[in-house]
Amino acid sequence: MQQYLRLKSDHPDKLLFYRMGDFYELFFDDAIRAAKLLDITLTTRGSTAGEPIRMAGVPYHAAEQYLARLVKMGESVAICEQVGEVTGKGPVDRKVMRIVTPGTLTDTALMDVKVENRLLALNFVRGKMGMAWLSLASGDFALMDSTPEKLASEIERLRPAEILVSDDAGLAMFDHFQNGSAVIRKLPPWQFEVASAVRNLSRHFETHDLSGFGVVDGMLALGSAGALLEYVRSTQGGALPVLAGLRCELQSQYIELDAATRRNLEITETIRGETSPTLFSLLDHCATGMGSRLLRHWLHHPLRSQPKILQRQNAIVALLATGLFTSIHTALDCISDVERITARIALASARPRDLSSLRDSLAGLPALLQVLPEDEFFAALAKALTPDAQILELLSASIKTEPSVVLREGGVIADGYSAELDELRAIQTHGGEFLLALEARERERTGIPTLKVEYNRVAGYFIEITNSYAGAVPDDYRRRQTMKNAERYITPELKLFEDKALSAQERSLALEKSLYEDLLQRLQPYLGALRLAAQGLATVDVLASLSDTAERGNYIAPQFVDGQLLHIEAGRHPVVEAQIDDFIPNDVDFSVVRKLLLITGPNMGGKSTYMRQVALIVLLAHVGSFVPAQSAVIGKLDRIFTRIGASDDLAGGRSTFMVEMTETANILNNASEHSLVLMDEVGRGTSTFDGLALAWSIAKSLIEKNRAYTLFATHYFELTRLAQDYPVVANVHLDAVEHKDKIVFLHTVQEGPASQSYGVAVAQLAGVPKDVVRAARKKLLELESNSVQGGMQGDLFASAAAARIEPDSHPLLDALAEVDPDALNPREAHDLLYRLCALL
Ligand code: ADP
Repeated sequence: MQQYLRLKSDHPDKLLFYRMGDFYELFFDDAIRAAKLLDITLTTRGSTAGEPIRMAGVPYHAAEQYLARLVKMGESVAICEQVGEVTGKGPVDRKVMRIVTPGTLTDTALMDVKVENRLLALNFVRGKMGMAWLSLASGDFALMDSTPEKLASEIERLRPAEILVSDDAGLAMFDHFQNGSAVIRKLPPWQFEVASAVRNLSRHFETHDLSGFGVVDGMLALGSAGALLEYVRSTQGGALPVLAGLRCELQSQYIELDAATRRNLEITETIRGETSPTLFSLLDHCATGMGSRLLRHWLHHPLRSQPKILQRQNAIVALLATGLFTSIHTALDCISDVERITARIALASARPRDLSSLRDSLAGLPALLQVLPEDEFFAALAKALTPDAQILELLSASIKTEPSVVLREGGVIADGYSAELDELRAIQTHGGEFLLALEARERERTGIPTLKVEYNRVAGYFIEITNSYAGAVPDDYRRRQTMKNAERYITPELKLFEDKALSAQERSLALEKSLYEDLLQRLQPYLGALRLAAQGLATVDVLASLSDTAERGNYIAPQFVDGQLLHIEAGRHPVVEAQIDDFIPNDVDFSVVRKLLLITGPNMGGKSTYMRQVALIVLLAHVGSFVPAQSAVIGKLDRIFTRIGASDDLAGGRSTFMVEMTETANILNNASEHSLVLMDEVGRGTSTFDGLALAWSIAKSLIEKNRAYTLFATHYFELTRLAQDYPVVANVHLDAVEHKDKIVFLHTVQEGPASQSYGVAVAQLAGVPKDVVRAARKKLLELESNSVQGGMQGDLFASAAAARIEPDSHPLLDALAEVDPDALNPREAHDLLYRLCALL
């Protein structure tokens, strides 16, 4: 207990798995918590101060599956092993060998194949936010300076499993958004110190300073990177993963997507939090987990640099032209997760099957190289996919074709790799012949035809004789074990053999273990090459997958231009299109003189689908993919914003309307003339007049100030008048026709405002009882005739406009009223201007 408590005091916030023989045991509160989380039995062992000590345990051979469940629930576990010899005097020495936390996983059993597991560290100083993130399994290590306002968006983009922050940072900011399931871990503030971080990082990368990585002096993110590196070291028992270097990311590299947009566009998760149908689930035909993870990354990081986009696009063109993408897929089918295996080799935690899979994957590379198109881009990839031949030679020579799953059982190292091991193994195999010969001899000697010579782990070697022959047992047989229908014996000769064989077995197992550890060391120099190969594999996989989708879906290559322009002909919503039979394509046309499309039309008419399809096509184009359209010409873009759908952020304590306005504020404050903005039914969450007034002023601001490419869907018919005031506004509508009280949606976007909203018809379609629908129709007629006479909503707009230009009398207005512009000469006009300014 003293030993336990000492170890536990180093890991107060983690569950301590304390190894005792064949079990990992948990004590006290850990036991209670684990019992509840894992549904395992809570028992007691001994007592302290008169109270029984709570205990719960899991068998060590099944520990992985329990770990996986705990980590999924956001728990961290310190794994304490027995490291000393069992002496019988006092407890055996124990040490925490490894800490498993959600953000530092590398074990296959604990990870989702298609999702990158990231650890994020955040450093907040004076209104700035330094971020560093690391994926242990891929070795990707990046940093970026940002601002706290971008926190939600960054978390949505990176989806970290674990977030490290200084414990003096206010954590209230994390309450404002759903941070997924990330665990937040607080570290002492000094760990985020920039100067010592720079020293530690330079030492780690063996560089004089960090300028080679594009790091700017004094970047706040360096503090985060330093904290991150130390944290990882502490969880891996001091070992560090292969890090590809430090990558400095700039906001301006990517088309920015705020948190709401990433969710609303259902890129990798539906609004309901499901994984399908999403853009990712539609596009992911990748053959490997590496490919799927890279695709997910690409979708969340649309590029701004046209040359880079075109590089990917051209690669897809080449794959489609040659039709090679299917052969690539086939060649990739036999390739394992080289990336994660490499990470485990770096951490010396690779299993025998990891190495055999790596060997088979390397052996599969030449077949892949043969089916790559011949051009400059693929030539560079081919180079990465041709790692040093010595790796394959080493693995082929050292690992058995099908090694056993665990090293401790032996059967891992190939014959011929070590002469000593071969010899020890020979003793055991030749033993097999000896046993057969012994059995034949003894059968003859005793005349017992059913006599058997056998081995099992409990009894060792023995001669088994059934009870019916008990009388024929020779004198030199010594009884070893009594069974129900038989007796088991040993003879001096068999005993001698047993001693020799068992010691050979023990020695060969120990030798295999040390040969294996040595092999992992011998592989260390090749980690860089393996990482490059893994990246190459992922890239080829994604490009082949995008080609596949492009061909299946009849996608085209979008064209990029420099001006302010967005022109899509016969565009389709990639995900909705795959769900229904007859999807109706639609155009969109934006230019300097046409920047806001006001979309009206009935519910269910297809407004949301239309707006989202524009955003998705733009997103896919910047990912480098082909797009679902007949043609697409896209000008310079910097961001995509969306304000779609009503979602209560109850956890964050914000009502629907509050969420709506927060997202709107973000758009109005940040959208530029190169941004694409999607506004769906803004202002719906409050009273009609409030909502209409807000929608109107928001649209106005988007037109006058932001001048963004805006798709503005609304139910407020009054807004369609904006087109009269502003030439950059165009009305478009989605139509429906009513036929014998039924409604048919046409899903075609047409110029001009909608003629009516069909709300009652849609209610009927949805199954609202007939009498309610009938009453609504009647009421509607009544309201409409009132509105014609009294001008209900129509008048609101007029009076709002009037309010704008008729405030209480003002000297400025009085002065203006007297002006006759035609009677002024230039000099007088100029003077007048000064006078007016003075009055203001
Ligand atoms: P709104 O936003 O106008 O209420 P939605 O965009 O949600 O309408 O569309 C409602 C449904 O209509 C979609 O779920 C889809 O099945 C269908 N739909 C939308 N657009 C199209 C289209 N272009 N072609 C075919 N069906 C469509």
